[in-house]
Amino acid sequence: MPRTLVTGGAGFLGSHLCEYLLDKGHEVICMDNLITGSKQNISGIKSSNFRFVNHNVSEFIKLDGDLDYILHFASPASPIDYLELPIQTLKVGALGTHNALGLAKAKNAVFLLASTSEVYGDPLVHPQPEEYWGNVNPIGPRGVYDEAKRFAEAITMAYHRTHGINTKIVRIFNTYGPRMRINDGRAIPNFIKQALTGKDLTVYGNGSQTRSFCFVSDLIEGICRLLMSEQNKPVNIGNPNEMTIQSLTDKILQATGSKSKIVQVPLPEDDPKTRQPNITLAKTLLNWEPKVSLDEGLKSTLKYFQEQLNSS
Ligand code: UDP
Repeated sequence: MPRTLVTGGAGFLGSHLCEYLLDKGHEVICMDNLITGSKQNISGIKSSNFRFVNHNVSEFIKLDGDLDYILHFASPASPIDYLELPIQTLKVGALGTHNALGLAKAKNAVFLLASTSEVYGDPLVHPQPEEYWGNVNPIGPRGVYDEAKRFAEAITMAYHRTHGINTKIVRIFNTYGPRMRINDGRAIPNFIKQALTGKDLTVYGNGSQTRSFCFVSDLIEGICRLLMSEQNKPVNIGNPNEMTIQSLTDKILQATGSKSKIVQVPLPEDDPKTRQPNITLAKTLLNWEPKVSLDEGLKSTLKYFQEQLNSS
């Protein structure tokens, strides 16, 4: 039975990953310090092959026994979180990644880094292929996340080249689904919460900026295919179905049947104007592409948020 560590395992993506890996027959250790993750996300996991460890991976990670895989997902990931936790975000991307790589070296484990489309910054190439180096403001408010992840990619490649660690880097584009926190601050949970509670939907700027939203189950499948592949260079995983934020609000009003109004509020600094993954590499290397439509994905996300609101 493969033994696998998921850092950030109690987060939105981490908890889905833990479940997926348990289902594939792994023993899973979920490590999280719960600053943005939550025990509730893993409360449904009953397997005896699952263990939770409360630890901040920016500190040295001590773990007994063999490890076959490490998936490094610990990090605040919502813009409001990393603006509130800038130093923790930089530390987990830098020190946390170093510690997780050190553990991979000590255990001779396969290592997968959760990187991000934010490494492309406010992109000047569209859609974004993996060869694009990006357009990031290092000292802007988003720089704490973008540069931490860029450093994380650099040190991951250095461990691969210097120590021969079998490393993988997934560049994750906007993802949504059950277990995002309702107060997460990202576009889909914000709009759904506002629509369900009769508040105005807050479009930042004029809403002409674009994003491409991937449902969580598609993303997890892509990541696990990458984990098992021979590829060591970064691979984009995301849904190329690009839309303006304005049209996303229309979709959400339609899906919820809400009569909420749309209001424009100031655009945050350095908010990328466009974003769409080029997924040619994932298609050819991993035989992967997203399958869940936005309508289907929004339906199950909506159900989750409705339950969360009812129980709060
Ligand atoms: N956004 C918005 N209203 C909100 C939350 C987000 O208009 O209440 C916009 C945000 O400015 C960005 C896009 O939606 O252009 C996606 O934002 P999100 O925070 O989901 O993630 P990002 O892609 O910026 O990391």
